[in-house]
Amino acid sequence: MLNKQSIIKIRKIIEKRGPVVVISHVNPDGDALGSGLALALFLKKFDLPVSVIMPNNVPEFLSWLPGFEMVLTYKKKKKQCKALLAEAKTIFLLDFNDPERIGDMKDELKASDAFVIMIDHHQNPVQFTDLLISEDWRGSVGEMIHLLIKDVAGADSVDKDIATCLYVAIMTDTGNFRYASSYPEIFNIVGELVGTGIDKDQIYTNIYDSYSENRMKMMGYCMSEKLVVLREYNTAYISLKQEELDRFDHQIGDTEGFVNIPFSIKGIKVSALFIEKKKHVKISLRSKGAFSVDKLASQSFNGGGHHNAAGGEMPLSLEETIIKFESVLAAYKDELR
Ligand code: 5GP
Ligand code: MN
Repeated sequence: MLNKQSIIKIRKIIEKRGPVVVISHVNPDGDALGSGLALALFLKKFDLPVSVIMPNNVPEFLSWLPGFEMVLTYKKKKKQCKALLAEAKTIFLLDFNDPERIGDMKDELKASDAFVIMIDHHQNPVQFTDLLISEDWRGSVGEMIHLLIKDVAGADSVDKDIATCLYVAIMTDTGNFRYASSYPEIFNIVGELVGTGIDKDQIYTNIYDSYSENRMKMMGYCMSEKLVVLREYNTAYISLKQEELDRFDHQIGDTEGFVNIPFSIKGIKVSALFIEKKKHVKISLRSKGAFSVDKLASQSFNGGGHHNAAGGEMPLSLEETIIKFESVLAAYKDELR
């Protein structure tokens, strides 16, 4: 996958033995954390000082991942993270392509004179790093890290712990090998990971069968009370106010996957999830087929992402955001028919 020069550069970084920091995006998901930990575990094999920094908390359902003890949260340990960023000789940025996606940490990144490498699979990367490896057809960054490790050090370097992290990255970002995984090579990658002896059924259980009773009840509440179907746009959405989240003792990561629920309804092409935050509304957007939610998110909701999975934020009330959403959809009426 990597061109020869990128491989040479990454090998040189390893030979230099300077401190490395691996960073991923705010509200880290399975790909952000899985690919970050896999890369960190790989670099550790060369006795490099490696730290993994996430802008904010990692959801509980990912905390069992091998190497999790390496993770520092910038929001909680600012001083320590700032020092690590200042000392770093190399910084890897994974699973995002715009400095805005790491919040306040972007200032520390700008100030650093480390060699910065971005490895990502989102569309339209912002060019601000020393090396950019961007492949927007990939289902996950996990796939790219697998290929990177093999290119740099050979397939034997992908041990069971690394393979577990990469499997989680790919499984979660492709919604269990459904989305963005229609290119055959992904199954070769997954096959090689399974071949290392990982326990894929246990991994599935750890990720998908480990939520709280409250989360299940909130999901049921969303389906029965909060689902809105806009038939004329073949669109459905769910919105949650802070008081509703509180009622179900919402924990970080609990609404993960809710945005996909409406696709079980025949004919739905676009689905949205609106979550009320203190000062803004977080929006998750998904589509099936030709309609681009990346375009929708970047043009109207201060965000971006992929063709079929994107997100954004609006500094409006929940009601205002939903009104805007419905009015924006009207412009796509023909496309969504
Ligand atoms: P999710 O809906 O799971 O939060 O995010 C889906 C996709 O959209 C992810 O690939 C994520 O990187 C992207 N995304 C989510 N929120 C934002 C945002 O606020 N800004 C941008 N640029 N991308 C986002
Ligand atoms: Mn990803």
